[in-house]
Amino acid sequence: MDKESAEKRIRELTTVISAYDYDYYVLDSPQISDAEYDRLMRELGELEEAFPELVSPTSPTQRVGGSPAVGFNSVSHLSPMLSLSNAFNEQDLRDFDRRVRGGLPGQAVRYVVELKIDGLAVSLLYEKGFMVRGATRGDGEVGENISQNLKTVKSIPLSLRRPLPLLEVRGEAFMPKKEFARLNEEREEAGEQTFANPRNAAAGSLRQLDPRVTASRALDTFLYGVGQIGGIDITSHMEGLAVLKQLGFKVNPHIKAFDEIAETIRHCQEWTDKRHNLPYEIDGMVVKVDDYRQQAALGATSKSPRWAVAYKFPAEEVETVVRDIYVRVGRTGVLTPTASLKPVKVAGSIVSSATLHNEDIIRDKDIRIGDHVIIHKAGDVIPEVVRVMPEKRTGTERVFVMPERCPVCAAGAQRAEGEAAVRCLNDKCSGRAREGIIHFVSRDAMDIEGLGPSVVTALLVAGLIRDAADLYYIKFEDLVHLERMGRKSSENLLQAIAKSKSNSLAQLIFALGIRLVGERAGKILAVHFSTMERLEQAGGEELTAIPEIGPKMADSIAAFFKDPFSLQLLDKLKSAGVNMTQATPTTGDRPLEGKQFVLTGALSGYTRKEAQELIEGLGGRVSSSVSKKTDYVLAGEDPGSKYDQALALGVAVISEEEFEKMLR
Ligand code: NAD
Repeated sequence: MDKESAEKRIRELTTVISAYDYDYYVLDSPQISDAEYDRLMRELGELEEAFPELVSPTSPTQRVGGSPAVGFNSVSHLSPMLSLSNAFNEQDLRDFDRRVRGGLPGQAVRYVVELKIDGLAVSLLYEKGFMVRGATRGDGEVGENISQNLKTVKSIPLSLRRPLPLLEVRGEAFMPKKEFARLNEEREEAGEQTFANPRNAAAGSLRQLDPRVTASRALDTFLYGVGQIGGIDITSHMEGLAVLKQLGFKVNPHIKAFDEIAETIRHCQEWTDKRHNLPYEIDGMVVKVDDYRQQAALGATSKSPRWAVAYKFPAEEVETVVRDIYVRVGRTGVLTPTASLKPVKVAGSIVSSATLHNEDIIRDKDIRIGDHVIIHKAGDVIPEVVRVMPEKRTGTERVFVMPERCPVCAAGAQRAEGEAAVRCLNDKCSGRAREGIIHFVSRDAMDIEGLGPSVVTALLVAGLIRDAADLYYIKFEDLVHLERMGRKSSENLLQAIAKSKSNSLAQLIFALGIRLVGERAGKILAVHFSTMERLEQAGGEELTAIPEIGPKMADSIAAFFKDPFSLQLLDKLKSAGVNMTQATPTTGDRPLEGKQFVLTGALSGYTRKEAQELIEGLGGRVSSSVSKKTDYVLAGEDPGSKYDQALALGVAVISEEEFEKMLR
């Protein structure tokens, strides 16, 4: 390519990449896949390498991420938060190794290999042992102050186990796969736009002006780097990680060190398949030179350190055919067009259907019945159509039309103004009931074994149930005559249903399928209210006073308990003997038996009184002063002198998260 054409192409690429950066970093809503974005960046990088005189300081290859969004205060990082250079294959990793060894002639090099968590980088600042600030990476120099939001993330300690004078740490805030799937399902049901991947979902959750929204989403963290530290000398990355762990941070357990690049490469490749078994998404591996002195000698470019590289896994995209598009009715009545696909293996499992979200998306992507399409799994969990392959069309493909009536009950369906979702307007729609019951019996809800979607459908069709509460009134004689339900499976099913009556209140609250109330909110509400009756009577003010409960969720809870159908359902559940109270643990289930606690500082999940009740209910005791007899000091935000006394006496200081682990 001659210089003139290169200049033109560089300009074009710079413009489109900058636009994609804005969508991704500022709006948390990418418009193209990461693989496509990486291809554009690589093309730009290659052109700039061939014509170095054309590199502008504002080129996307020279800058880190995005700029801070309006609405948050800006903060300057104590040391810059850089991005990482990329490796896409074995050769790229070998080239990295050659550059590193070339920069450190005659020295042995040790590489630390970590999982590349697909979240967003955050920086946490601690002074005298207390968290004083939390920020996004932003443009690497200046980030957004999101302290209030980060403080709602349970795995971030608000105080360190050892009060160092100063600590700036970096890590990844992320959304586990399960929470990502739940949140997207909830957003789809609410007619809102779904998040493209867990990273954007985590970023969107942390960059909220209302911290309660952040609190309602189960975010987590892994810390992987020390920015500045006072009071301790650290000489290597591995040592830094060990210190972070001791200070109370969550550090990823899958970290390994290697002396040779060949072993490093093998390890990176092994994780290409293993990653699908992790509960969170990773998009690659990060290889870092361990020794700090060597890191300093290698230095950094304006965008990334020369001592680290991100090995990106190949995008898992596969081709298949859309055999049909059918419409699924969700439990709140949302009609979701879904593609029935020719089965293919993608990201570790066989996929035969994919949500198409709503009619706008089908139109924008121009997906037709019979089309060849490329699919992937968003967040490694949700099958999705990435794009169609129009070049493979034969002319027999059919355009999908959204039905005007609910496909299950034939009642009218309507698209509310400003929403992308079309809803069935019939409260008693059997399709909605079916989805509600499937949710009710699912593993994380009432966990009734042997009640899969097909059995639920059979029970509905046979007229044995109309809602979830009817399950508790089914008789053996009714069941045994159903197709494919012998004596044994009927007995087992009835036993499983009966067993579920003693499930926890948290499970029941979640199972009810109240809009926006997920598993975590179910637990919080159960601990706070102890009985279904108290929850039912709670007003909006009492609900929103709970840190994790936002106004939308409070409205939805109130609406649920006003609805005569819900009240009837609850009555039937109660009469059937389904547990409606937070169980007081019996002897043998007292994990805190004999343990003495002292509470200090403000806890985020409980009031002092609630924490005390919880500890006592589980067999522990709470006293007001620290002595040698104290087993644990549970420290919340801004702990007082009891924290120092605990350190002086060598009493274990635990964070709220560690405390919650003890309860399980
Ligand atoms: P990056 O995501 O490629 O790598 C750097 C980041 O990795 C760090 O900031 C940190 O957040 C993260 N990370 C995770 N685990 C880590 C660990 N163990 N150690 C160190 N860091 C770790 O770089 P980036 O600058 O954040 O983003 C660029 C990437 O974002 C692109 O390659 C592309 O995939 C994606 N992107 C996509 C679009 C789009 O429109 N689809 C737009 C912009 C960027």
